[in-house]
Amino acid sequence: MPGLPLNRVLSEYGTTIFTTMSALAVAHQAINLGQGFPGEDGPEDIRAVAAKALMDGPNQYPPSQGLPELRQAVAAHNARFYGLQVDWQKQVLVTSGATEALAATLSALLNPGDEVVLFEPMFDVYLPIVQLAGAVARPVRLRPPAWELPREALSNACTQNTKIILLNSPMNPIGKVFSRDELHFIADLAIAHDAYVVCDEVYEHLTFDGAPHIPIMTLPGMAQRSVRIGSAGKSFSLTGWKVGYITAPERLAEIIAKAHQFLTFTTAPNLQKAVAYGLAKDDGYFNSLAADMQASRDLLGDGLRHIGFDVLPCQGTYFVIAGYSAFARDGEDDVAFCKRITTEAGVAAMPLSPFSMAAMPGGSGELPAEKLIRFCFCKQDAVLQEALDRLQRYLG
Ligand code: PMP
Ligand code: GLN
Repeated sequence: MPGLPLNRVLSEYGTTIFTTMSALAVAHQAINLGQGFPGEDGPEDIRAVAAKALMDGPNQYPPSQGLPELRQAVAAHNARFYGLQVDWQKQVLVTSGATEALAATLSALLNPGDEVVLFEPMFDVYLPIVQLAGAVARPVRLRPPAWELPREALSNACTQNTKIILLNSPMNPIGKVFSRDELHFIADLAIAHDAYVVCDEVYEHLTFDGAPHIPIMTLPGMAQRSVRIGSAGKSFSLTGWKVGYITAPERLAEIIAKAHQFLTFTTAPNLQKAVAYGLAKDDGYFNSLAADMQASRDLLGDGLRHIGFDVLPCQGTYFVIAGYSAFARDGEDDVAFCKRITTEAGVAAMPLSPFSMAAMPGGSGELPAEKLIRFCFCKQDAVLQEALDRLQRYLG
């Protein structure tokens, strides 16, 4: 076998904590509240459109930028929910999931040595993509329990080399929704540094207690420097479909389209058709998606609190953060605790430390000291209740 060194960045990474915890959950028949995916598939009518399109065809390569009907639907969705007026032919792209959208966007905008400011705890794909582009990550840590924007640290992280501020709102894993005021602060910094803002908005329709989702692209001066990323996986509870969509100013969309054409070129046509149909669903659908998820958040959150977890506020996403200090054994970190409850209580959760740059290859700094883990609540009530019963029996 040839022994030449392989890619330096990827050689440092293992399989993700999502894969590790899901495999452990399967091996121990644990209820999986680790990796975030809905317990039930999304709307049957959307799936029926996909099934019909699969049989009726065509099933050949769709246009690289996406089917016109989906790009039009994304533009109409932007206008309907956020008052954003965009040209679907010049400013909308379809990708194979938000993951590909992120990879295409970052590789299209970055040159080696550019700096990307990003917020911890962070979703796992951001850092490796930044590193693969040869760019430098400048992490800014949000701290519990309020996870407020650390304005001074953010200002200090921005330099003359800042090319992108990468944001995720609503934010995985912590369930934070950035406020208008916080977004204004970020926008002002981006403008002052002539930087782009890439916002991962896959949980845009999953905000609770009336918290509004505000695309940073809608703020003054931001339409020309923002890339907004959405995902059908999250908006329609179909995470395996991997259909993402990008809204960007024309100059950026043009180069992101070039990255996309060399990454995947295009995305399954029947799924695109069905997502176009889904984005046009009435407000009732989107309202009840959020309302049902809020009820699930409350069921799980109240139950965890009752057992003795320190449950933090959650304004959006699929996830609630819980402190497990009451149950930690001497020296037991979050990874060990999550493995213990998976194997011994039969409930899998996600440790929070792997979302810190300190735990990632090429990362530096200290791991957070707080004993926190993430539970996913996008499951049927009976599943959540059974998970709570198991935890109560084991920890109670
Ligand atoms: N960003 C965040 C914050 C996510 O939680 C996810 C879900 N895995 C993604 C991006 C990826 O979305 P997709 O499945 O559409 O690639
Ligand atoms: N977004 C999901 C989560 O945070 C899982 C993503 C994945 O498995 N890659 O749990």
